[in-house]
Formats: sequence, C-alpha cells, structure tokens
Amino acid sequence: MQLTVWTYEGPPHVGAMRVATGMSGLHYVLHAPQGDTYADLLFTMIERRDQRPPVTYTTFKARDLGSDTAALFKNTAIEAFERFKPQAMLVGASCTAELIQDDPGGLAEAIGLPIPLIPLELPSYSRKENWGASETFYQLVRTLAKPPTTERAPGSRPRCNLLGPTALGFRHRDDIIEITALLDQLGIDVHVVAPMGASPADIARIPEADFNVVMYPEVADTAARWLQRTFKQDFNTTIPIGVGATLDFVREVAALAGVDPEPVLASAPSRLPWYSRSVDSNYLTGKRVFIFADATHAVAAARVARDEFGFEVVGLGTYSREFAREVRNMAKELGIEPLITDDYLEVEAQVAELQPELVLGTQMERHIAKRLGIGCAVISAPVHVQDFPARYSPQMGFGGANVLFDTWVHPLMMGLEEHLLGMFREDFEFHAEAAPSHLGKSTAASSPSEASSTSTAPSGAETPAAAEGSDASANAASDAAEGEPVWLTDAEQELKKIPFFVRGKARRNTERYAKEKGILQISVDTLYDAKAHFGR
Ligand code: SF4
Repeated sequence: MQLTVWTYEGPPHVGAMRVATGMSGLHYVLHAPQGDTYADLLFTMIERRDQRPPVTYTTFKARDLGSDTAALFKNTAIEAFERFKPQAMLVGASCTAELIQDDPGGLAEAIGLPIPLIPLELPSYSRKENWGASETFYQLVRTLAKPPTTERAPGSRPRCNLLGPTALGFRHRDDIIEITALLDQLGIDVHVVAPMGASPADIARIPEADFNVVMYPEVADTAARWLQRTFKQDFNTTIPIGVGATLDFVREVAALAGVDPEPVLASAPSRLPWYSRSVDSNYLTGKRVFIFADATHAVAAARVARDEFGFEVVGLGTYSREFAREVRNMAKELGIEPLITDDYLEVEAQVAELQPELVLGTQMERHIAKRLGIGCAVISAPVHVQDFPARYSPQMGFGGANVLFDTWVHPLMMGLEEHLLGMFREDFEFHAEAAPSHLGKSTAASSPSEASSTSTAPSGAETPAAAEGSDASANAASDAAEGEPVWLTDAEQELKKIPFFVRGKARRNTERYAKEKGILQISVDTLYDAKAHFGR
C-alpha cells in the first residue's frame, strides 16, 4: 500500500458531496467517523462558499463501534430530516463506515420518511471522487426524473438542460453563464442546470427539455445516456473549450435544436485567434507543452494547444481512468504515449524527463512545475483557492477561449521578461544592488543629460542609480561645456515611452550615435535614427 500526501481525487463520497453541495433542497446523511467533517473545509475554505455543505455526519467514534451504530445512523437521519426539511435525501457511508456494514439505505428506508430517499452505494476502495459524483447524479436523475406532463406551446423556442456542473468544479460557475449566453444567441433556452443550482423538483423536470448539453462528461455522461435511453433526449459530444471546439459545439447543438448556427458562427467573437497570431511566434510556435488533467480538460487542452496556439504537445495524460480511452485516442492522434495514472510522482518524473516549456495541469502539476522551474497554467480540478477567482473567468465558449489565451500565454511571457532582465543584467539600472526603480527608492537623475533638461527632469521614480546622481547638475553643466549632446524636451518625453528595462540602453546608444555624428541636440528624430542605426 502506498501512502500519499497528494491525491488527484478524494473518495467517492466527496463526489457525492460535490453534487449535494451544488444543489438546493437536498440533504446528504453520511455514516462517517468523527474527523470526516474535514470535507466541509473543501467547500467553505477552497471554494469560499458562504455556507456549510448540506451534509449531516453520524460522526461515530472508536468507542461507538462496540455499540449500536445502526441506531446512531437512524437517529441522525431523523434529526436531519426534522431540522433541514429537504425535498429529498441522499444516504450513504464513507470509507470507514463502509467497513462496519450498517447499510444506510436499508436503515433509512426502515424509518419511513415522507420524502424520496436515494441510497448511494459508493465502493470507496475501488472508485474515486468523479465516479462518486457521476453515480450520485445518475441515481438522483433515475429516482426523481418524471415524464413530461404538459404539451409545449407551438412555436416556443427549443430548450435544453445543462448537465454536469457541481460544487468544487473547475470554473463551473462561469462556464454555466458563458454557455447559457451562447445558447441564447442561438435561440435556445436553458431549462434546468443540474446538479449545480437545481433542487430535487428541478431534477424531476429534466425530461421536459428537447435535449441535453453535457458540460462535464465525468459527472454527467452516465445520467445523459440514461436520459437518452429513457426519454429520447439526445446530447452533445463536443465540449466547447477553445475556439475550434466552440464552433463545432455551436454546429452540434444547433443541429440538435433545429436552429440555424450561421449567425453565431459568423460572429465568433473570441480574441484568441488574433491574439495568438499577434504574439511573436518565438514565444508561442513550437513551444513544448505537457498536459495532465481530468480527461475532458486534457483532451480539449491538447486540441487548443496544437491547433490554436501552435504548441507541440509532448506529453498528455489523465487521472480519470473511466475516460482514459478519450485521452488515449488524442495521444495517438498526436503521436505520443498517453500517461494514465493517479500517482503524481509518475507525473512529476515524466515532466522532469520531457522538460517542457509549459505545463497545463491541475494544482498538482502547478506544484510540480514550480519545483522544476517551468511555467504552468491550471486547466482542471483538483482545484485550489485561487481557482475560484472573484472575477468572471470561464473556460468554455468564446469568452473562455480569451481566458485560455491569457492564462496559458502569460507564463511564457513572464519567461520573456526574465530573459530580457537577464540580457540587461550588466546595465547600471539592473545590477544586483540597484533599487527597484518603480518603487521610487532613488531620487537623483540617472545620467548627466537627464539632469540637464531641467524642464523635463524625470522624477526619482524613473531615475535610479542614486550613486551617480548626487552632483548631476554639476556634471550636466560640465558635459554641456565639453560638447556632450543635450536632450531636447520632446526627445526626453519620447524616451520615457520605452520600457524601463531597455530605456538605459536606448539612452546610451542614442548619445553614442549623436556624438559619432557630431549632433549636439538630441531630437525625437535623432532617437529614431539611432534606433534604426543600431537595429540594422
Ligand atoms: S473514512 Fe475515508 S474519507 Fe474518511 S478519513 Fe477515512 S479514508 Fe478519509
């Protein structure tokens, strides 16, 4: 048995908690030892939810094991029902409680509560969190979904359900907003979003929609297949992450709804394609990227990385064993070996071996990449607190594609800045002891000629090198006397537009050029002539 400090997925009852916590009017009674209440923190601390999950634990202790833990479960279920008055109740056991074999489903049935009871059989030792979420959602849908009873008004807009978002999901909150808006543009209404935001009564209404949009197959695929078999509701196969996949998704759902996709396809408002083209190809094209995530995000990221950024995907893997086939297919298309594992040490070893320039992964890969000094962007659960930003930050749709551009390219651009700082390390402004110029630590002019142009003398914030500046005006006077070129006001202003980390070099090159040409007054034209001269 391997002990681990990190794990990609928790036990399956955490998956059930993610479903229950996303919903309203539902309560989960969990037979679990004292200590399992730690799981609440995932939601209140990491997701920053403003209330506890709707979960009541039996919290049995070691000394309870010799007595009647079945009675403890029954009493807990009755108390939870009376206190929370839910529309429906999930009952189940965590890993340790599974071992004492109390059968929460049977016990809850025996109490005879007047609401639907959904017993969860979640084998903790062979299954994990995403499977637990999927099974819980499937059982809820199977138990609660009802055939439609009313006819739709003729001419009403087509409608669909959004299936799969849960609590603790990676950007699920914002993906719902993005996809709802995209569907609205197509003339399609969203009927029920589930599990996130739905009540048991809403789950009952799912079959009233024309079709389903599966946003996260790890959670919703099983339920969607059952709804297709039982209520003839078709569902999509394309997950709209990236511009290409979003366009495919628009075509697919338009066909499911019987609407015209062309107006939306023609408008395709993402900035990603143009931004990708506009970035210096040295910093995008052919960058070697390693991707590890849940299967949905891993496959989607591989397509975006290859087709929309021009990256070379050198590694692709997932911890989602249930969806390993999709990742294997994508890896085959890319001509690489897939990595299917839930051992982060194996992932780390492969990242270290492949030495990519960018890692797209989960919070685990963020840690791995940081240790190895490689840029990283998080694209999938497992999540950490910063994956729940206050700002709107979807992954799906055209808006999500913009977010992908920002979050994937910036780690590479940060590398660019460091590269420039390295190039100019020898400059007086950037030597190891130099004060950070933007903090205004220095107060004097950085060069004689800066001091000489009194009307535009830069503030201390832009002129480090205090050591040189104490007698700057005296120097300026003598420099002028010695025939040193003098900066005109306009040229000084223009110089300030040059990024701080290359400004010193630009100043020195311009002055050198002016001296070589015998120019005594540096104008804007001199600055650009010098730039052209040294740029040749
Ligand atoms: S019962 Fe399962 S979730 Fe609870 S502490 Fe033990 S291993 Fe962890």
